[in-house]
Amino acid sequence: MDLGIKGKTALVCAGSKGLGRGCAMALAEAGVNLVLNARGEQALNATARQIRDAYGVTVVTVAADITTEEGRAKVLAAATGIDILVTNAGGPPPGLWSDWSRDDFIKAIDGNMLTPIALMQAALPGMIAKGWGRVVNITSGSVKAPIPQLGLSNTARAGLTGFVAGTARQVAGHGVTINNLLPGIHDTDRAVALDTGVTKAEGITMEQARAKRAATIPAGRYGTASEFGAACAFLCSQHAGFIVGQNLLLDGGAINATL
Ligand code: NAP
Repeated sequence: MDLGIKGKTALVCAGSKGLGRGCAMALAEAGVNLVLNARGEQALNATARQIRDAYGVTVVTVAADITTEEGRAKVLAAATGIDILVTNAGGPPPGLWSDWSRDDFIKAIDGNMLTPIALMQAALPGMIAKGWGRVVNITSGSVKAPIPQLGLSNTARAGLTGFVAGTARQVAGHGVTINNLLPGIHDTDRAVALDTGVTKAEGITMEQARAKRAATIPAGRYGTASEFGAACAFLCSQHAGFIVGQNLLLDGGAINATL
């Protein structure tokens, strides 16, 4: 399917690895030029090179921490006039509800709620002026079904979801859509980190930890970054202009719910 977005420009945050990288790849495959961000320069440059080689699009890299004001300023300076915004950042660490301090909450809210909100506030006026824009926020299945040990994520992402629900309806009349993609368990470094936690907590091997988590997914496997990216590219396509303020769960059926 021709997604109809060839020649547009996207900012993909936290995109050198994992789900962000999957989104960057799929957008580039559709002919979208990229501003690509992550903190570590080495992986960022390697991913940018692979994308240029594979799809021939322009990729501008900005190595910066997207959760800081200085980092965002650097990224946004390279991303003026973008048509597409994919927000993403690392997820907060796991833990126990009773152990988190105010600082822990502020850090999580800063990274996974206030950062995407600030990026939208920066990008939306330009999209509205052009009469076309697409925003996809990478959130988590935890907004539909909370994950007990990821309480910081549950909290911050619920706040972002509320902001998007209201804002998406305010900008839709200008041809700008905002939607959230909710990953369940995907095969990325983040999954390895969480599985490592399970091996330590339960005294089991990595293989056993993975098999245990995969068994909780009706699809019987972890998701892949490339199928996640394909969903993102569709939401950014010309065909998705009537999809507004939605929360699309990609979890292989793991959350047992009718809607
Ligand atoms: P990942 O494989 O660990 O990749 C994270 C990417 O984000 C890397 O490119 C990393 O590069 C970059 N990054 C991290 N923190 C950053 C920051 N502060 N500023 C700029 N770039 C940053 O993670 P993932 O699995 O793709 O997860 C992406 C998001 O989805 C996370 O918020 C995660 O919590 C959420 N999620 C993932 C899953 C899953 O199963 N994978 C499930 C639910 C939710 P640098 O480290 O070099 O910056």
